[in-house]
Amino acid sequence: MTSETDQSVQKLAELLGAATRGVAFTGAGISTESGIADFRSPGGVWSRHKPVMFQDFLRDPAERRRYWQIRRESIPSFMAATPNAGHRVLARLEEDGRLAAVITQNIDELHQRAGSRRVVEVHGTAMKVACLSCDRRYTGEDIQVRLEAGEDEPACGDCGGILKSMTVSFGQDLPQDVWAEAVELTRACDVFLVMGSSLVVQPAAGLPEMAAAGGARVAIVNREATPLDDLADVVIHGGIGETMERVMAHLDSGAGC
Ligand code: NAD
Repeated sequence: MTSETDQSVQKLAELLGAATRGVAFTGAGISTESGIADFRSPGGVWSRHKPVMFQDFLRDPAERRRYWQIRRESIPSFMAATPNAGHRVLARLEEDGRLAAVITQNIDELHQRAGSRRVVEVHGTAMKVACLSCDRRYTGEDIQVRLEAGEDEPACGDCGGILKSMTVSFGQDLPQDVWAEAVELTRACDVFLVMGSSLVVQPAAGLPEMAAAGGARVAIVNREATPLDDLADVVIHGGIGETMERVMAHLDSGAGC
């Protein structure tokens, strides 16, 4: 890393060292080091498939079958994944009283498995499936077994209704209570730390601007530039695991306090 990056690592450690109600905002990039491809990179799901829009899912059985086929193909990498250094650092920052919560666009539940307690999932979770009629819940594993056994459009075992992953699909509204919680945390935070998001999916990508408008310091750790880099107090273009281990080493040495 360059000395410019060294300075940014130190500055991020200082921001986090002083934080008492920070918020981390994470995207698919925090889970690539756990073996889950992000959406836009080569090898990611959407480089191979057009997403199924929510309205098409509801009205067209052929689109539902396509949906389940995409899920059947992508979910094994989610099930095999375990949390990485980036997830663990955020759990520790919460435990140390520096972070109030993680707001995530991810649907893999890796933050919870790393030990983060307050996780706001603005795009829901792929690890559970629900009936759109009676709300019966199924584990991801149960549905995967059925898909692999040859069901191309699994139906609810109780009422025969349409099942769907508990994710927010393209064209589907964000759950209002979850979004309200994300906005409240963002408005109240002192540091807003973006990790592994291209910051192009709205409305979630508007949160850093909201945090800055409320007086928070904004930091971005992402491999590539984002449209909001100019807004941030600290920008580090690098891998999350390596960067955050260096940030924590600064914090642990007392340099960040
Ligand atoms: P994105 O794919 O648009 O952007 C990910 C960003 O992370 C990219 O800018 C990339 O350069 C960066 N990145 C990748 N690996 C990195 C690493 N190791 N260190 C630092 N940066 C890294 O993802 P997004 O902005 O989160 O939005 C896409 C949508 O994809 C989200 O809504 C989310 O719901 C969904 N998604 C979730 C998962 C998951 O749950 N793990 C996986 C794929 C997609």
